[in-house]
Amino acid sequence: MESIFDEDTRKCVECGCTQNNACVGGCYWITDNLCSSCLENKADHDLKIGPEYFKDVLQGLKNFEIRRNDRNFKVDDIVNLREFENGRYTGRILTVEIIYITDFEQKEDYVVFGFVAILPDLN
Ligand SMILES: [Zn+2]
Ligand SMILES: [Zn+2]
Repeated sequence: MESIFDEDTRKCVECGCTQNNACVGGCYWITDNLCSSCLENKADHDLKIGPEYFKDVLQGLKNFEIRRNDRNFKVDDIVNLREFENGRYTGRILTVEIIYITDFEQKEDYVVFGFVAILPDLN
């Protein structure tokens, strides 16, 4: 069924925010009925990422991560990549979805996963 939504009644299924009553700090629509803050909160994993890599992901140059698989990464998992610099989070976040995963030729316990960005940072 095709849904034609009306901006006046559009509502986030998770937090109930609306077009006229956004989340604290602001949010925007990711899907017909899910806002960006909720997508962030729904993430399965939070990972630190250095500024140089964060920049490359943001520019679309880097679409994979090599990580120790101590978190049971799976295809379809949502991951927040949080920029981490000089021992603290900068507050910038990229939310991505894992689309491919392999441990081929990796060190023991390590995996490579490919992802697509679903929530680009807008700062
Ligand atoms: Zn929401
Ligand atoms: Zn919201």
